[in-house]
Amino acid sequence: MGDFIMIDINKGRYWDEGITLVSSCTKCSPGCDHCWALAMEQRFKPEFKNQVQCHPERLKRFNTRKPKVFAVWNDLFHEAVPDEFIHDVYWKMYREPQNTYLILTKRPQRMLEYKQSPHRPLPNKIWHGLTVCNQQEADEKIPIFLRVPGKKFLSIEPMLAPINIQLELLQMGNLGEDGRGHRMASDNIDAVLLGGETGPGARPMQIEWVRSIRDQCQGANVPFFFKGWGKWGVNWMNDDNGMIAGSEWMDKGIKKSGRVLDGRTHDDLPWVK
Ligand code: SF4
Repeated sequence: MGDFIMIDINKGRYWDEGITLVSSCTKCSPGCDHCWALAMEQRFKPEFKNQVQCHPERLKRFNTRKPKVFAVWNDLFHEAVPDEFIHDVYWKMYREPQNTYLILTKRPQRMLEYKQSPHRPLPNKIWHGLTVCNQQEADEKIPIFLRVPGKKFLSIEPMLAPINIQLELLQMGNLGEDGRGHRMASDNIDAVLLGGETGPGARPMQIEWVRSIRDQCQGANVPFFFKGWGKWGVNWMNDDNGMIAGSEWMDKGIKKSGRVLDGRTHDDLPWVK
């Protein structure tokens, strides 16, 4: 952990501060079925339902003294967000280079189109992230996402089905290594985050799905961060051979379900040095 970054990894966080620069959204994936942001909006601001709004006033939160890792969510690349606002967000990130910015989208086509427009080279502290929840979404969106320049990570959350991403992880161009032995390339996925669903109606995630992603990342030497099981948990025990085994699913709630997979947590975040 670095001198400044204070991410609360024990809570499954990979960011210091989440920031909603765009409020409201429209569903575009099975992973949106139980969208927390839309549920909150429906509850507290029903008059704004499905009305995408940009919040330029929140950009001043990037004015930090100590570097922070910001997670920018609620889709900056939604089709209703004007290009001008996206420009303003990038301009501000360039102006505050002490921070790390994680920009998450479920809409890689618009992210790619925006990133293809000519502008200054991307600093290493701006990371683009794609969220997928099942194989179909991965197959459709990852090939587009791989063409986005710069540092990239995949967020598999909520994980709703097994996913094979091995080809994408292995689709490496000119490989180098960072100081920690991780391979790096401009056209591949530099990190994978994974988490189960939370909240009312959450769908359970199976142990084998998570193990498979862990193993694919390990095989490709790509950093893997396991955010947690979500609302549904696993009972861990030792089997007859003394090996760790997981048993049936229980609705434990997010605090109790925890982040352990086969006896350990997976905390590898490349932006935390
Ligand atoms: S893209 Fe994100 S914010 Fe938009 S509906 Fe889906 S889960 Fe919600």
